[in-house]
Amino acid sequence: MVQKAVPREAIEKIAQEYGCSYEAALNAWLKADNSFNNTIKELLGSRGAEQDKQKYGVVYIPRQIKEHLDKYVIGQDDYKKRLAIAASYHFAIVKARFSNEGVLGKFDVKRFRKKNTLIAGPSGSGKTYCAEVLGDLLNVPVHIVDATDYTEAGYVGKDAEDMVRELIAMAPGENKQEKAEFINRYGGLIFIDEIDKKAKEGHGIGIDVSREGFQRAVLKLVERKLVSIEDPNSPAQQIQELVNQQRGGTSSGKKSMINTENILFILGGSFQRVNEGMEHIVKKRLDSKSGRLKEDGSLTIAGFGMEEVDAKKDKYRNYYKDASEEDYIRFGIIPELVGRAPIRAYVNQLSKNDLIRIMTKTEDSILNQYKLEFKLFGIDLDFTDDAVEEIAHRAEKKKTGARALVGEWETVLTDFQFELPGTNFAQFTVTGDICRAPQDALLQLMQRSPFADFSQRFKSDYGIMLRFADAAIKYVEDYAKEHGMQVADVLRKLLASAAALNYMHEGQEFTIERNMLEDEKYFDKLYVEWHKKQMAENG
Ligand code: ADP
Repeated sequence: MVQKAVPREAIEKIAQEYGCSYEAALNAWLKADNSFNNTIKELLGSRGAEQDKQKYGVVYIPRQIKEHLDKYVIGQDDYKKRLAIAASYHFAIVKARFSNEGVLGKFDVKRFRKKNTLIAGPSGSGKTYCAEVLGDLLNVPVHIVDATDYTEAGYVGKDAEDMVRELIAMAPGENKQEKAEFINRYGGLIFIDEIDKKAKEGHGIGIDVSREGFQRAVLKLVERKLVSIEDPNSPAQQIQELVNQQRGGTSSGKKSMINTENILFILGGSFQRVNEGMEHIVKKRLDSKSGRLKEDGSLTIAGFGMEEVDAKKDKYRNYYKDASEEDYIRFGIIPELVGRAPIRAYVNQLSKNDLIRIMTKTEDSILNQYKLEFKLFGIDLDFTDDAVEEIAHRAEKKKTGARALVGEWETVLTDFQFELPGTNFAQFTVTGDICRAPQDALLQLMQRSPFADFSQRFKSDYGIMLRFADAAIKYVEDYAKEHGMQVADVLRKLLASAAALNYMHEGQEFTIERNMLEDEKYFDKLYVEWHKKQMAENG
């Protein structure tokens, strides 16, 4: 019996267009599809299986994978190594299984222990990024999901099995059947991020039950489970059932199921929590082992001054590194799931130096992206070391890993991205000073004074041209120097309430005097007086 996946949209569209039943639409589609495929085959011959072989199913040794990861991911050596091993061995088995290579028969291993991986560490430090980069090399679909988007089966929302169907949708192929076949043959990778948000916290009430339910659903998937490639509740699946019945079958049959054994799972998270985060759990266990923490939780005093040394050391110590099976369980991951993820890795918090290397030494670095963007408008962009260091320094303070870099660069470059294209600037070097005072630098570059710029913006917002008395200009410049601020920022700060002029002032021009700047409430007061006067005049 030949089975066929039926594109739901096509059937629905036919039924709608011709006002017929799904059944009639389906019959028409099957006939048309057969003749269409035959014609295509006659014209083009069978598809390029040979090409596929070269592109997919290549087995990389761990070292090759690690070398590839090294090009993009800075630091995180332990994780890269373990991931390289997990991926290399996993996809080698997938290939051997499919091509039925003799080696599998020689060893009587009925159930392979999959190299599913648990990865813990601070956010923004490369956990998911590594998986993306790995997927590029292996040419297999990589689905990165957020555990919090899923519920356990039976609840409203997506359930764990949907992850597998979503992965299938990412595979090459013309229909679900072909896509599923691709995963069966070459494997795939699912990264479940924020798995820690599904950890039990020991409340023992509803929320913990549902989190455990999700973990149990994931547990089944990570080992091996047959998942229907169609969502059992979708119209497409109901149409498929119709086909099966017409052809004498009763169930969807084995062909429309996929076995998850070829899918490698990575479970990741920061495992941070206000109370009892992973670092705390590990530290407590280590301390109690070394006798520094008594059973009742009280600390032994190790000697005068030792606490300070310990505290300093703690700052640099990565406790994720020592996280053991029991620590994950204590955190709230069910023991069975921890057991099914035998590879456990950690990532480090990125330092300022790491962030500098991420910007300058990786193949798809953010600096190169900006260079490309500016080049599209004919501008050669450059960055001094000082500029890169300034941004790394700011990003490090944000404690969100490399993610902060984009935000910091956007803050600096926004006005330049707006102003420079279309001018005759062919070269632009971003220096540390520009990073520290981007607006002043831009105005200087455009040979425009910050005062003229402020006036111009004010005029386009409120229709009033501001003039600045000499004493006012001097006051602003001194204020900027004294407070280490950009002149543009000082103007914005001291004249924040000047927008009130929009209501009170009817002329085209207004001159800012020094006394108006000295009193930050000047325009507020002016407005109150004006308002009072209006009230009196009107009634
Ligand atoms: P998480 O650890 O929370 O999964 P990501 O891997 O998503 O963080 O990192 C966010 C972004 O920061 C990535 O897309 C990547 O551009 C950059 N990044 C993070 N860590 C590194 C790293 N070690 N090397 C290079 N880029 C990194």
